[in-house]
Amino acid sequence: MFHVKHNPYILLVNPWITDFAAYDLWIKPLGLLNIAGLLRENGFRVTLIDCLDLSIKTKTYGDGKLFKTKIEKPFSLKSIPRNYSQYGIPEEILLKRLSFLEEPDLICVTSGMTFWYPGVFKLIEIIREFFKNVPIILGGIYATLCYEHAKKHSDVDIVFNGRGELEVLKLVSDLTNKELITYNSKLSIDNLPYPAFDLYSQLNYACIATSQGCPFRCIYCASPFLSKGFVRRDPLKVVEEIEHWTTRYGVSNIAFYDDALLVEPSKHFVPIMKKIMERGIHCNFHTPNAIHIKEIDEEVAELLFRSGFKTVRLGFESSIETTQIEMGGKANNQEFQRAVKNLKRAGYSKEEIGVYIMAGLPGQRAGEVEESIAFVRETGARPMLVEYSPIPHTPLFEKAKKMSSFDLENEPLFHNNSILPCQWDGFTLADYRRLKEGLKR
Ligand code: SF4
Repeated sequence: MFHVKHNPYILLVNPWITDFAAYDLWIKPLGLLNIAGLLRENGFRVTLIDCLDLSIKTKTYGDGKLFKTKIEKPFSLKSIPRNYSQYGIPEEILLKRLSFLEEPDLICVTSGMTFWYPGVFKLIEIIREFFKNVPIILGGIYATLCYEHAKKHSDVDIVFNGRGELEVLKLVSDLTNKELITYNSKLSIDNLPYPAFDLYSQLNYACIATSQGCPFRCIYCASPFLSKGFVRRDPLKVVEEIEHWTTRYGVSNIAFYDDALLVEPSKHFVPIMKKIMERGIHCNFHTPNAIHIKEIDEEVAELLFRSGFKTVRLGFESSIETTQIEMGGKANNQEFQRAVKNLKRAGYSKEEIGVYIMAGLPGQRAGEVEESIAFVRETGARPMLVEYSPIPHTPLFEKAKKMSSFDLENEPLFHNNSILPCQWDGFTLADYRRLKEGLKR
């Protein structure tokens, strides 16, 4: 099935999102771009097709609305009274792009949220039809978290559920019989090539990961399953990469993809941002993944503000102590109040301090969320609701399966936070809408 070539040609694809809603909050397929960088460094030829690379109404910081095409809802979601769309480039554009390509030796498709798999399958169907004899590998988050589902239902040759881009590189090398040039025991998180953002014809922003994994173990989060351990890059290497994107590519917005950017700030975040300022690098920074409340002391708050962090998101979850402890004990109310005080003293306004509160946790009552919203407001920050999404391989998934009326075990579409998978009499969809409306006032 696989044949040998001197410089194998690999097509890398980021599929569409299929959902009730989606937004380009600095979403780039960083893992796939890392793989592209590694493949190129090892003599492969690569092409990237990012189906999400079509934003309309891009905002000041590079984020923006994605182009969408309304599509038929999957059967399991028929009863949900909302429109369902395919987000990203229209199908005709994809077909046109494919028609310009020479036949690849191998196609690597990534995947995101588990409930976006219809977009992944549709893409696979199209490329399968287009390049009939080319093997396809499917990797990414859905493939890793729902491995059996992907193996059973996706029409690919290999479902990859390993961790790390180096494993993918090794697999591609084995499949194409191409020896690797840079793959050796000295390869580490500090000497990998930069993600291949240059493959985009237009770059509104870049994303960076300064670490892998997270030392915390929040019971609803897949990070500990997806990345084993917690490793950080050398601060100086991080600064060099940021300088590379800002000076060579004119990028003025960078989103940090870290799960634990602020942990032990004196060893990592503080030296990085001090160097950024010393070198006179001007850029808007964003933390869509939320940052750790506990670590925001006066120095960190000041550095966040002065170095250009525009979108600050705090992962608070709840003001109810028992919930905080059950979820993993990331921060308590006093730590939260102190963090907000420090951020405000540094210069942030109430509107700029977005605080994620979780809604629809298994067994959670609407009143608890209401109380948390009031607490965040009183503290002087902006509450933002995040609907709980049950994720396989997380400790909370077992409880979610018991409490949910949806078949979470067998149908990833039901992991979709928009349907409030763990709704019950104590927290209905109507409760959720009321709370969400209340946030607008
Ligand atoms: S929610 Fe955040 S802090 Fe908790 S385990 Fe996940 S990444 Fe780490």
